[in-house]
Amino acid sequence: MIAPPAEIIDDVVRWRRQIHRHPEFGFEERETSALVERELRAAGIDVRRVAVTGIVATLTGSKPGKTIALRADMDGLPIQEHPGLDFASEIPGAMHACGHDAHTAMLLGAAISLARERSELRGNVRFLFQPAEEGPGGARPMIEAGALRSPDVDMVAMLHVWPTLPAGSIGLRDGAMTASCDDFDIRIGGRGGHAGYPHNAVDTIPIAAEIVGALQTIASREIDPLKALVIAIGRIEGGYRRNVVADAATLQGTFRCLDESLRQSIPERIERIVAGICAAHRAKHEVEFVYGYPSVHNDAALSAKVMEIARAVPQIDSVVELEVPTMGAEDFAYFAQVVPGCMIRLGCASPDDPQAASLHSPDFHLDERALASGVALLRALALRLT
Ligand SMILES: [Zn+2]
Ligand SMILES: [Zn+2]
Repeated sequence: MIAPPAEIIDDVVRWRRQIHRHPEFGFEERETSALVERELRAAGIDVRRVAVTGIVATLTGSKPGKTIALRADMDGLPIQEHPGLDFASEIPGAMHACGHDAHTAMLLGAAISLARERSELRGNVRFLFQPAEEGPGGARPMIEAGALRSPDVDMVAMLHVWPTLPAGSIGLRDGAMTASCDDFDIRIGGRGGHAGYPHNAVDTIPIAAEIVGALQTIASREIDPLKALVIAIGRIEGGYRRNVVADAATLQGTFRCLDESLRQSIPERIERIVAGICAAHRAKHEVEFVYGYPSVHNDAALSAKVMEIARAVPQIDSVVELEVPTMGAEDFAYFAQVVPGCMIRLGCASPDDPQAASLHSPDFHLDERALASGVALLRALALRLT
């Protein structure tokens, strides 16, 4: 039976609301993972703690087969939720604005309902409840703790609620689903002085302004226009007051792209432009890169199978083959680097809300009808792909 039992959906809605009321940040998901652990143990599923608040659980089927891993993330965001829901966040400044409450509840519902049907199950299902997706990243420490081993995982899949798709639909594609996301800090060193005597100083403010503009020429002039690239400076700091030359300035930025070889080429391009501009204006410079999540690439064969399976799930009305990825990032990418992976968007827009708020918005909310579709799909993947 692919369809999830009705009472499990009631539990999923209840868990989701409970988690929504108490959002917790990365590696602090104590109440959330305690709830997950308690419910999994009560259902007789083996549970192991990894990566502080992460949970690895394994359901062994009664017949031999493959091992599929299904992953949910558990963390909330530092956002003040706008009022409206009767189960709104009770923690000031914290909100489940990315739907990870739903991801956790759906995977828990799938795990518990499958545990009751072990006799139907081939192979193994590995459930990964991951901390800190919103940063600094819980996927990598989970992999290092053996989340994809013993038994060795053959494939990994995940759902992410998606407010531009209607509840009851899913969307996916093979190849790139999300962008890589890397950060950089540029520090410019000049010489301070009086604003009235600029010739005695090296002013870092016009140098910073020139760098902001020049970095945009990487995307517009240096790379193939058919390749996606975002370079953004989100923060500039420097100076003391209006009549003092700023002796130092710092720029903080991020770059995102879909292609790994393009990604590898970006630090040299940034460094070269910064070095050139600073040298031209007698300033010193330093550029520091902090590498973040790689791009999620869906495995072609696995994505094709997921689409075929999803089309036969009665709780899913439509399966959309996505034309383009998004420039958002997801640390599921690390799992999908180790074994074939598939990230699936789960529509969560309500039909009576034509302008659904985006993920990470203080107004984000989801149509809970999506939860039944999500649980049904997770169950179908566990039952059909193993
Ligand atoms: Zn997010
Ligand atoms: Zn998310």
